[in-house]
Amino acid sequence: MIIEAKELSKIYGEGENQVVALDRASLTIAPGDLISIMGPSGSGKSTLLHLLSGLDRPTSGQLTYDGRDIYRLGDKELSAFRRLHTLMDDLLDTLSEAGGAGLAAPQVGVLRRACVVMDDDTEEFIELINPTIVAQSGEQTGPEGCLSVPGKWGLVTRPDYVRVRAQDRDGNWFEAEGEGLTARCFCHEIEHLDGHVFTEHVERIYSNEEVERIIEKENRQKGRRRS
Ligand SMILES: [Zn+2]
Repeated sequence: MIIEAKELSKIYGEGENQVVALDRASLTIAPGDLISIMGPSGSGKSTLLHLLSGLDRPTSGQLTYDGRDIYRLGDKELSAFRRLHTLMDDLLDTLSEAGGAGLAAPQVGVLRRACVVMDDDTEEFIELINPTIVAQSGEQTGPEGCLSVPGKWGLVTRPDYVRVRAQDRDGNWFEAEGEGLTARCFCHEIEHLDGHVFTEHVERIYSNEEVERIIEKENRQKGRRRS
């Protein structure tokens, strides 16, 4: 999430006893940024860290997380909001590292109805919170694997087109749709949220070598059909 601090000041006491702990500090922290805060003793480093982490409130200035003013959110709402953003960032990181097409929160031990699905056309990740399938059609049968069941594959029949309704990480409702692999992935990940895995749909589990042979055979048949 993007963290933006604008003119953050922290002043303790009044009148002659007034102490300016931090004087109009502004900064932007982009996702993935590693920052260091340097300065002499008494320059306001720890005050700034306290304000950025929400442990203290500034006397003046604004602090936003992804455009949301964190001082306008209640403590409860703020911590839930932060936890959700952290969770979605973790899911994206884990999925990118693993090179998978989708990942659901229960797979990383978090019992929230949240998942990430890669759009096979754009290769962009779609974040889905509280998703439901609102429309589906057609049928496809193909090899399916899962990061929670490494090295194991099965042939699974899924709808060929799926439309989902979900919330984004800021709570806004939206709809997304996909065909082929994207539709398969929507089904696979939403199923994880209900505690189910693809192995429940397969007649038997295949090894990597067997799946490679199945894909090769499929490609050869497609090739013959095309020629
Ligand atoms: Zn899975």
